[in-house]
Amino acid sequence: MKNFRNFCIIAHIDHGKSTLADRLLQATHTLNEREFQNQVLDNMDLEREKGITIKSHAIQMEYVQDNETYILNLIDTPGHVDFSYEVSRAIAACEGALLIVDATQGIQAQTISNLYLALEHNLEIIPVINKIDMEAAMVEEVTDQIVELIGCKPEDIIPASAKTGIGVPEILEAIVSRVPAPAGDPAAPLQALIFDSVFNSFRGIIAYFKVTNGTLRQGDKVKFFNTGREYVADEIGVLKMKMVPRQEIKAGDVGYIISGIKTSSEVKVGDTITQVANSCSKAIAGFEDVKPMVFAGLYPVDSDDYEDLRSSLEKLQLNDASLTFEPESSLALGFGFRAGFLGLLHMEIIQERLYREFDMDVITTVPNVSYKVHTTKGDVVEVHNPSGLPAPTLIDFIEEPTIHAQVITKTEYLGAIMKLCIDKRGILRNQVFLSTDRVEVNFDMPLSEIVFDFYDKLKSISRGYASFDYYLNGYQQATLVKLDILLNGEPVDALSCLIHRDNAYDFGRKMCEKLKELIPRQQFDIAIQAAIGAKVIARETIKALRKDVTAKCYGGDISRKRKLLEKQKKGKKRMRQVGNVEVPQQAFLAVLKMG
Ligand code: GDP
Ligand code: MG
Repeated sequence: MKNFRNFCIIAHIDHGKSTLADRLLQATHTLNEREFQNQVLDNMDLEREKGITIKSHAIQMEYVQDNETYILNLIDTPGHVDFSYEVSRAIAACEGALLIVDATQGIQAQTISNLYLALEHNLEIIPVINKIDMEAAMVEEVTDQIVELIGCKPEDIIPASAKTGIGVPEILEAIVSRVPAPAGDPAAPLQALIFDSVFNSFRGIIAYFKVTNGTLRQGDKVKFFNTGREYVADEIGVLKMKMVPRQEIKAGDVGYIISGIKTSSEVKVGDTITQVANSCSKAIAGFEDVKPMVFAGLYPVDSDDYEDLRSSLEKLQLNDASLTFEPESSLALGFGFRAGFLGLLHMEIIQERLYREFDMDVITTVPNVSYKVHTTKGDVVEVHNPSGLPAPTLIDFIEEPTIHAQVITKTEYLGAIMKLCIDKRGILRNQVFLSTDRVEVNFDMPLSEIVFDFYDKLKSISRGYASFDYYLNGYQQATLVKLDILLNGEPVDALSCLIHRDNAYDFGRKMCEKLKELIPRQQFDIAIQAAIGAKVIARETIKALRKDVTAKCYGGDISRKRKLLEKQKKGKKRMRQVGNVEVPQQAFLAVLKMG
């Protein structure tokens, strides 16, 4: 056990975590040149394209120093806030962390939030300044920032380039000399922390774990502590470029288990595996059920595809336990599902995966957060959909989820960012100067305010020099109203939303303006109205226009004419008929595009 080192890499997105992981795998000959492919750990197509890590992965390397062989388990973590619970469980499986900071960017919001998680778990931090090969590298300045942040000595910081390989040998040496070997007793009752799981179409569900105490043997009868389910450990092993089966895995090591688990909901990240026979008395602390926070309707573009959409969602759920869905129907869109996501990025990823992996074209409705409605009878109802709101006379009060938000920016943008946060109903908690020109601002604000256009606004007012992170903070009472949108007098349920009363007028007006842009002119006038109950608060009109795409073909070329008609028909596939109005798919997301 003294030769095990378990570590993770924490970094703000794009600071070079995946690239550095590649270099470490090469330097330890964990993979040969033939196997090599950039960012090997990001193995889902979508991850590669978006350049983000969605699921965390683990990999074992062997590293020889002074004739001594060390087993290094690298646990890769997702960098995005939507997946912060997974980051936190992965961190809990480690004793050390490489803190990567991009030399051209300096410390950013996710650097700090992930660092706090690492410090909470008492990890040994090895600071690394990456991308020193770049001309824009500000090594001295970033050194000062790191010294200030974690209180280390400047010489503890390793300058590196994951691109050229500078600093990689020093990083490996530091992992061995600075990260403590895992504690734990191989003879104690088994306690293993599940930090991730994946669905493999050949092998079923595979759970990744770190043994904190005891020894897991192949064939053992095991129990998952929090779900209470029992399994036989059919196959256990360690993770190299492939899964390598082992007879036993001892305290301190990281491995995988295949045990006939049927659905991803049986495997909860953060759960503890123990033996049935010699069960541990306590689960490993810190387990929590992750709950989706953002909800939206998903409807097949072609209503015949409803059953296909259901089976696609079921399959996606097999390897993404945080996705939830239940059937719902909409007057405007027909039959579909209300799905729950961890955040907006998660929602976007699911929509993309439905399209790429299952060839499912879906319409997504306006997303909303989950509300707690206290009724006059004293019940509490969770509402995930504006149409699920009880009648106004039955509502005592409504609570909405709140977040603690952290923004790091240059001081020159501070004023504009404060204004944005206050406009978004934020309450300033504190501000901390990280250096003379960089400042960290902390706010409490409603989650619903960042669901819409917060990221885009933050980016534009700071010219990209602001990073943002958040965590959920509880619920607070809010004055909310249901805002409806009517097209030629017909309410479009898929466009309804719940909104704070103070923002309703402004929001209704902008929504009408945006829909006017997004809905194409048709052969008659279209009235767009925003209303609260029976009261219309905004209105726009789309003037009639006869759109004849074949007009400019002089009636001559028939095949060209036909092609144009085909094209027009295809364009219509993403349209929905609402009363007599044709509404394009983008209009259902108008709310996300409002400036
Ligand atoms: P991650 O989001 O933290 O995993 O970051 P990636 O490893 O995907 O890196 C983000 C981008 O920075 C990619 O385009 C990399 O090629 C580039 N990159 C990473 N490390 C270095 C480095 O040391 N030098 C230079 N010049 N580019 C780097
Ligand atoms: Mg990455």
